[in-house]
Amino acid sequence: MPLIKKILNHNLQFTSEINANPVEEAVKPSKYPNQQLAIITCMDTRLIGYLESAIGISCGQAKVIKNAGNIVSDQFGETIKSIIISIYELAVKEIIIIGHTDCGMTSITPHSLINKMLARGITADSIESIRTDLTNWVESFHNPTDNIRKAVSLIKNNPFIPNEILVHGLLFSLEKGTVEVIIHDKT
Ligand SMILES: [Zn+2]
Repeated sequence: MPLIKKILNHNLQFTSEINANPVEEAVKPSKYPNQQLAIITCMDTRLIGYLESAIGISCGQAKVIKNAGNIVSDQFGETIKSIIISIYELAVKEIIIIGHTDCGMTSITPHSLINKMLARGITADSIESIRTDLTNWVESFHNPTDNIRKAVSLIKNNPFIPNEILVHGLLFSLEKGTVEVIIHDKT
């Protein structure tokens, strides 16, 4: 059975339970993160729930922006756009980039990714049209710590981010559940 069917069935059960025990309006979380915090982290499946527990963040407290390898590359790319919304529309004052040990981006190469795309029927012309961007993106990730430093620097130096916004960098250990401070912004 496709997973979507399982999800839809689960949701029917979930909503019937919610409707039986409605949450009071007064305790519903706001779209404004009550810690005025945005987190940029990796899409890794092992982080779901685990990272939030490890750093004491729960529903309603932070904006969480995820991508493969918590990469910030473009001055006005999707990650920066989400940060801009977080700051100007949702009152975020502090940003934390959280990379992690054993990140899958460490082992990916442009060559291996392109070969897998070709093997799945993507045309050579399509690959050529993105080859430079794809290569730059994949090769921008050398190791999780350097990647965190680069992301913090790109946000701190981004012309659309106000100077007073704090931007920190942490490395999360999947094995130990610890966080190592890579950048502690005190400006
Ligand atoms: Zn990762």
